[in-house]
Amino acid sequence: MMYGLAVNVSKTNMFSSGIAEVEIQRIASRFGLARSSLPVRYLGTPLCTKNYLGQDGPTLLGIPLFALVSDVWNGSSWSFSAARSNRQLQLLSFLTTISPANGQDVPKWTVSGNTHKSFISRLVWEAIRPHLPVKAWAPLLWHKGLIPRHATTTWLFILDRNPTLDRLLSWGLDVDTICLLCGNADESRNHLFFECQYSVEVWLSICARLNFTSPPTSWNATMTWLPNASSDRSIKIALLQAWQATVYSLWQERNIRFHSGQTIPSSVLGRNIHRMVSDKCMAMVALGQTLGTPLLRIWKPQ
Ligand SMILES: [Zn+2]
Repeated sequence: MMYGLAVNVSKTNMFSSGIAEVEIQRIASRFGLARSSLPVRYLGTPLCTKNYLGQDGPTLLGIPLFALVSDVWNGSSWSFSAARSNRQLQLLSFLTTISPANGQDVPKWTVSGNTHKSFISRLVWEAIRPHLPVKAWAPLLWHKGLIPRHATTTWLFILDRNPTLDRLLSWGLDVDTICLLCGNADESRNHLFFECQYSVEVWLSICARLNFTSPPTSWNATMTWLPNASSDRSIKIALLQAWQATVYSLWQERNIRFHSGQTIPSSVLGRNIHRMVSDKCMAMVALGQTLGTPLLRIWKPQ
């Protein structure tokens, strides 16, 4: 029945289900309607069936929240609540065209078009996280021999987010900005690594253990030098260990001086750094990590 409204045939598609093909063709040609199939597409994109009936979809269809397909399929037909809206009717009509196989219900996870038998959080995180280009400095931080707290401190310095005295001053704090390590210049990230007299002694001593006799001592030059300092993979990683451990230890020494006033000579700090990275490599060997042995040989030559 029509109540004064006319169907715009050119904008209307016909959805059919449970009717013989001959009959469908007869209706389509009688009314001049184009045929279409579910799911309904809008601008070429399928309208998600999950959202087809809204959030109350399962309730409207009488499906318990944790129901399996077998709970609503008896082997020959579906059992849903009677349709109470056109959308519901369309969905039920569409479902009558589907007959599930009589096998066991098996949950499947489809992530980025690939189907998996179990939930894998790594893949899901990869699929939903924002993807930004990898930073040029990323390989300087994340490597197989890293000590997490050293990498984290170094990362914050790469971003220049640690509260060095020049930054505290810029935030309006009333602080004396003289470097706590050397007492000769204002403290900033670039001064600490390694324009500072105290810092450079530590840096040179640890580099000398790796046979680098004249490493750069400015922040920017160090960042450019590190990736190309050696073509040997193990030495490269040992150097990154050395750099991160030095950044971490200098910042720690600076904080101890800031809070308690205690100091240790640069030579002692250099030895402490060497012990830390050696301990890390011994732990890698004990854990059976293949990189542990060549790294330990570099740090503790026979
Ligand atoms: Zn200094």
